[in-house]
Amino acid sequence: MRLRNKPGSDEKIAKNTKYVVPNPESWKGKWQERFAKEQPIHIEVGTGKGRFITEMAKAHPEINYIGVELQMSVVVVALDKLIEADLPNLQLLHANGGSLAQYFEKGEVKRVYLNFSDPWPKTRHEKRRLTYKDFLQAYEEVLIPEGEIHFKTDNQGLFEYSLASMSQYGMLLQQVWLDLHTSDYEGNIMTEYEEKFSSRGQRIYRLEARYPK
Ligand code: SAM
Repeated sequence: MRLRNKPGSDEKIAKNTKYVVPNPESWKGKWQERFAKEQPIHIEVGTGKGRFITEMAKAHPEINYIGVELQMSVVVVALDKLIEADLPNLQLLHANGGSLAQYFEKGEVKRVYLNFSDPWPKTRHEKRRLTYKDFLQAYEEVLIPEGEIHFKTDNQGLFEYSLASMSQYGMLLQQVWLDLHTSDYEGNIMTEYEEKFSSRGQRIYRLEARYPK
């Protein structure tokens, strides 16, 4: 669903180029220069309102994070959280996760997070799912060899589809959780959607997969 931009969003983003990357193509191969420390880069594609990536950046100062989000209207909400937290290891990128190779060199990213991606349940919309083979290829184009995808969703259909799509792509499924919140997984950071769905009693699925060498 497309949301209308709040009045003043463009101005706010333009004023905060310290956090929302302007001209992202110009940082290709140089992303470490945007951070206080040179350390592995993890990105989240479809970062939404930014709770996950902001809390991850607070909890893991040894990682540099980039939240990638297609809709400006939610980038602005994530920006508010980042301004408040003022983190040296988090940047926001207003971009399409299917075009990452425009912005990153091969090997510049170590891990991709996908959280509660839109399920697009109709078969004719398969190509829009963020675990469709073309997206898996887009992530591979910027990841290190054996780079990882960590994926969570409440949507059983999307989860089943993603298991098959990753497996058909040749990825190795390292771990799968069919009910994350009752498992012994430690350090889970809830996203906005995760809180909403789990409070309704919906089960949360999670997987970790990696690309071949
Ligand atoms: N990850 C957040 C959460 O769990 O609360 C937001 C989930 S929301 C259902 C999915 C988000 O993915 C939306 O903000 C949407 O704009 C974004 N999105 C969808 N397709 C995208 C793409 N190709 N590239 C970047 N973001 C995308």
